[in-house]
Amino acid sequence: MSSARLKHYGWGREGEGMTTDERQFVLGRYRARFATDTFDTMAVPRLEDLALRTPRVTPPASLAAFCTSERYDRLAHAHGKSYPDYVRAMLGDYDCAPDVVAYPRNEAEISAVMDWAGGVSASLTPFGGGSSVCGGVEPRVDGIRYKAAITLDLRNLSKVVEVDLTSRAALIEGGTYGPALENQLKPHGLSLRHFPQSFEYSTLGGWIATRSGGHFASLYTHIDDFVESLRVVTPRGVVETRRLPGSGAGPSPDRLFIGSEGTLGVISRAWMRLQPRPKFRSGASVRFPSFFDAARAVRAVAQAGLYPSNCRILDPQEAFNTGVADGSVAIMVLGFESGDHAPDARMARALECCADHRGTPEQADASDAHREGAAGIWRNAFIRMPYAREFLTPAGLINDTFETAITWDRFESFHDSVKAATERAILEATGVSGEVTCRFTHIYPDGPAPYFSFHALGRHGALLEQWQAIKNAAGDALIAAGGTITHHHAVGRDHRPWYDRQRPALFAAALRAAKRELDPQGMLNPGVLIDP
Ligand SMILES: Cc1cc2nc3c(=O)[nH]c(=O)nc-3n(C[C@H](O)[C@H](O)[C@H](O)COP(=O)(O)OP(=O)(O)OC[C@H]3O[C@@H](n4cnc5c(N)ncnc54)[C@H](O)[C@@H]3O)c2cc1C
Repeated sequence: MSSARLKHYGWGREGEGMTTDERQFVLGRYRARFATDTFDTMAVPRLEDLALRTPRVTPPASLAAFCTSERYDRLAHAHGKSYPDYVRAMLGDYDCAPDVVAYPRNEAEISAVMDWAGGVSASLTPFGGGSSVCGGVEPRVDGIRYKAAITLDLRNLSKVVEVDLTSRAALIEGGTYGPALENQLKPHGLSLRHFPQSFEYSTLGGWIATRSGGHFASLYTHIDDFVESLRVVTPRGVVETRRLPGSGAGPSPDRLFIGSEGTLGVISRAWMRLQPRPKFRSGASVRFPSFFDAARAVRAVAQAGLYPSNCRILDPQEAFNTGVADGSVAIMVLGFESGDHAPDARMARALECCADHRGTPEQADASDAHREGAAGIWRNAFIRMPYAREFLTPAGLINDTFETAITWDRFESFHDSVKAATERAILEATGVSGEVTCRFTHIYPDGPAPYFSFHALGRHGALLEQWQAIKNAAGDALIAAGGTITHHHAVGRDHRPWYDRQRPALFAAALRAAKRELDPQGMLNPGVLIDP
C-alpha cells in the first residue's frame, strides 16, 4: 500500500484515481444518458485555500504527543464519503471540522481523551477509515451542550496481537485497515475473509461498529458472525466480553456493541473468527432475459443451501453501465470457493437452478473464471468505481446508492414501487429523467438485499436539496414497502428519520438507557443512531 496521505477530498490516497480511459468510460455513460457533450464543472478548492476556524480547545500537555490541530488533519477528518459529504467539501464547507484530532496508541490514551473531552464539553467522534456513507464521522457541535469537537482516529491501533491456530481466531486491534489485517494473517494461512468494497480504506473497528457486509453473497459475510469477543473503551470504563464459540447466557453483550456506531464506546480490539485462505474456486456468469427471472434463480440457489461466495445479479441497465452486457439482459455473477474441497458439485447444482429460470451460462468450471468475462469486468468495475464520485460531483451529477433487504414474498412489488418512487423524485427534483438500477449484494434463504443506484443530472447551487429530495422519496418508499433503511451501510445521521420509524419504541428507550449508563455526558457521536 502506498504511504501517501489519504485524500482530504476523494477516495484513497493522494495521487490515486481513475485513469483517463476509465474516466472517459464513466463520463461517456453519463453523456449518453443525459444526451449532452459537456457538464457544468466546478473546481474543487485546494487544501491550502480552505478556510478553517481557530481551534476552540487546546489539548493539555499530557495529551499533546498524540493530538494535533494541524490543518490537513482537521480537514481530512471533517467529512465521510457520502454524496452530501462530497458536495459540502466541493463547496469548501468545512464548518464541521474537528478542533483537535487525537491519534491514541493504546486504551489508556483513549480513556485520557475521553476524560479531557468530558472536562471541556466536547463531542468525541471515533474515526476508523472515515469511509462512512451515512454521516457517521462528521463532528457535531451546537455551542451549548458541545462547545468543541474532538475526533479520535484509531489508525495507531493497527496490530494483529495474537493468533490462536487451534481455535482459528485472532486478536486484532480496532484501527487495523483491511490490507494490513490480511497481510498480518497471511503468514498463518488464514483470512478474516471480510471484503467490503471499501476494504482498502476502512478498519476492523469501523466494520464492527457499522455491522458491515463483505462482498461474499451468502453465509459468513457479515462482520457480526466473525466476532468472538470484544474490548470496548467507554467513558465509564472498559467492557470486555468472554471468548466463546457460542453462549446462551442472556442477551449477547457483543451484540450491544456490534452496530453501535461509536455511540456507546470505542472498540479497541476484538477476537475474530478466521477462515482458511481459499484454494478451490469455481466461477460463472449467467444471462437472464429479465431481472426477475434472475431473482427467481437466486431464490432457488439460496433455498437449495448452496451458499455461493458470489451470487450478484445485475439488472440490464446496471450490467450495461458497468460494461458487463449490452443492456438487453440481466447478468448473474456466480462463484463458489473453499479452502478444503472443490466446489464443482455446488456450481453444477446452482447452474441447474439458473436453467430452471431461463438462465444461460456464459462460462463455467474455470477456476479463474471469477477474474474473466462478465465476472472479471464486474469485479474490476466494483474495485474502481469508488474513485468516480470525486469527478462526477464537480460535474453536477448526482450519483448515489441505497441498500436494503426484503423477504422474497414481497420482493417484486417492493422493487417496482421503490424504483418508481425514486425515478419520480429524480424527475421532480431535477426536471430531467434519471436512472435507477438494481443489483443484489447479499442473499438469504428468506430474501435478498437489493442495492439500488441512481443517477441524476443535478444543478450546481441546488445539489444538496435535489439529492435530499430523491433520498427522502427513496427512504419513504423503502419503509412504506416493508424494507429496512439500511442492510449494511449503517444509520449514521443521514438514515435517522427512517431508522427512528422502523425501530420499536421500547427498544429505542432501552438503547437510550444503555447510552446513559455507558456515556453519561452523551459525548460520543451526538446525533448518530440515537439521541442521548
Ligand atoms: C466506496 C465505498 C464502498 C463501501 N462498501 C461497503 C461495503 O461493501 N460493505 C459495507 O458494509 N459498507 C461499505 N461502505 C461503507 C463503509 O465503508 C462501512 O460502513 C465501514 O464499515 C466503515 O469503516 P471505517 O473504518 O471507515 O469507519 P468510519 O467510517 O471511520 O466510521 C463508521 C462509524 O463507526 C464508528 N467507528 C469507527 N471506528 C470505531 C471504533 N473502533 N469503535 C467504535 N466506533 C467506531 C464511527 O464513529 C462511525 O460512526 C462503503 C463505503 C464507501 C465509501
